[in-house]
Amino acid sequence: MQTPDKLQNEIDIAYMKIALEEARLAEAQGEVPIGACVVYDGRVIARDHNRRETDKSPCAHAEFLAMQKAAQVLERWRLTGCTVYVTLEPCLMCAGLMINSRVDRCVYGSFDPKGGALGTLYALQNDERLNHDFEVVSGVMDDQCSSILKEFFSRRRKERKQAKAAGTFSKPQIEEIDELRQARAQINHIDQELFSLLAQRLEASNEVVQYKIEHNLDILDTSREEEKLKWAESLSSDQEIQHLYCEFMQDLMDISKTYQSNIRRK
Ligand code: ZN
Repeated sequence: MQTPDKLQNEIDIAYMKIALEEARLAEAQGEVPIGACVVYDGRVIARDHNRRETDKSPCAHAEFLAMQKAAQVLERWRLTGCTVYVTLEPCLMCAGLMINSRVDRCVYGSFDPKGGALGTLYALQNDERLNHDFEVVSGVMDDQCSSILKEFFSRRRKERKQAKAAGTFSKPQIEEIDELRQARAQINHIDQELFSLLAQRLEASNEVVQYKIEHNLDILDTSREEEKLKWAESLSSDQEIQHLYCEFMQDLMDISKTYQSNIRRK
């Protein structure tokens, strides 16, 4: 005979597998692999995956979309009676929606040290100042949920490195440098788009790096590495973007180190 806890755990695993299927769908579309489903009355009434890039929307998190769908299916904004399954610990926005929609339970897979709002950085599910509390079960299929993310990011890093090694860059340099100069002027209100523009330009062209060094752009100063990485991380509260920023900053410092040592050799 199974204990109720053990049975519940098996049920949670079964639904987490559906959330993982959704995460794989996200991955197939080039999205960060996070998936979710909403269960009501013993059946899955909504499922979705991260589609932030596809929808060009900052709220297109897997569980956020799944909760919106669930409300449409139930034809009510209250998700009372619902359990949300999601492969990664929800962020503040999604945990906030769980409170606003009065979900009963949230079951998540891996922990998010940089954004988790249900236990890691915050514990919104039992913050007495808020008008709703709900049950949270964490770490269900943690290994599978986190390895799909780790593999995704390591593959992406590899692809970037390969693209950089291929050195595909053909546009007139002067145009690129102008764009870079404009981008640099705005570096104080840097945003994701700008940063990826910078990243593309810099990764693609050593001449641009040279230009930056000659013009004494301090971002390429290779000292205070740790400080710079921290700065890069602070540019966003979004874990994925932080990751990109840090990666880019690291690349930037690597490129300029190589460049400077080449100059010294000449
Ligand atoms: Zn979220």
